Amino acid sequence: MTQDSMKAVVYHGPGNKSLDTVPMPKVQKPTDAVVKIVKTTICGTDLHILKGDVPAVTEGRILGHEGVGIIESVGDAVSNFKPGDRVLISCITSCGKCEYCKQQMYSHCEDGGWILGHLIDGTQAEYVRIPHADNSLYPIPAGSDEEALVMLSDILPTGHEIGVLYGAVKPGDTVAIVGAGPVGMGALLTAQFYSPAKIIMVDLDDGRLEMAKTFGATDLINSGSGDTVAQIMAHTKDGVDVAIEAVGIPHTFDICQKVVRPGGHIANVGVHGTKVDLQIQDLWIKNITLTTGLVNTNTTPMLLKTVTSGKLQPERLISHRFSFDDFMGAYEVFGNASRENAMKVIINND
Ligand SMILES: [Zn+2]
Ligand SMILES: [Zn+2]
Repeated sequence: MTQDSMKAVVYHGPGNKSLDTVPMPKVQKPTDAVVKIVKTTICGTDLHILKGDVPAVTEGRILGHEGVGIIESVGDAVSNFKPGDRVLISCITSCGKCEYCKQQMYSHCEDGGWILGHLIDGTQAEYVRIPHADNSLYPIPAGSDEEALVMLSDILPTGHEIGVLYGAVKPGDTVAIVGAGPVGMGALLTAQFYSPAKIIMVDLDDGRLEMAKTFGATDLINSGSGDTVAQIMAHTKDGVDVAIEAVGIPHTFDICQKVVRPGGHIANVGVHGTKVDLQIQDLWIKNITLTTGLVNTNTTPMLLKTVTSGKLQPERLISHRFSFDDFMGAYEVFGNASRENAMKVIINND
């Protein structure tokens, strides 16, 4: 490595970030790899961090937990990868050895979990250090659409595992997805593996709802147009089998608990910053299941196969593309997603 500095998006406290010149990351432990970022993106979670909602993120932290890249260097204990290999970076770092990892609950790895762009420097940089590289990176098959694979770092496995699998979507089900942002769309795309009869998409943004229709939503409800609960119920006999909450505010959680039918599931995917009122006086008798979670990424290898085969086409979520030098422009667009008709943005470093 000849270079000793690089560009990266650095968090400088609530409301402040900048594209700075910082030192290059280096292999620190034998299980580390340093990856040259080829493509990265911005997540709604990064916007939460920038609002100050995630106080564990300290000033000086490089943001980002998604991307694809090329292995630059590896520690002595890394056996699955070598310099030059093209890799998908998982938003979840996992050692593969601890009690949680043994249960495939990588999100709670005792030496990992969601740490990238959170507790350690992240992927919105020209290079990133990835701990436990053997377990936290995935090889990219030759000829893959690497933009599409960026959607596999976080949003697709999150929508699939925490929305669809925890919600137990089954053939013939009626599913409501509340929130048509990138993760809601990830749930919409992957719910269709399990052949639900109806997928009702709920959002405030007509542009997002129209996009959801092209992705397979059967019914669209603009939650700004009257009584959303009544509108969802009108599409069902006695409520939905699965309500997927993909926003993270009390109002949308409340919609989910009001539309779930007896025996149904509420799968919370949204990142909540405040408490909600659980209507236990109504729900106790309804035999429902309520789930929460942080993505484990244990289904990433399966999703990778569905994307490389063309069965799943997550590249359709990409609305804007930027050069690395214009990273702040990408934040401007993604941070005003409704005004800009933005879904996922790609930042290229090739
Ligand atoms: Zn994310
Ligand atoms: Zn672990």
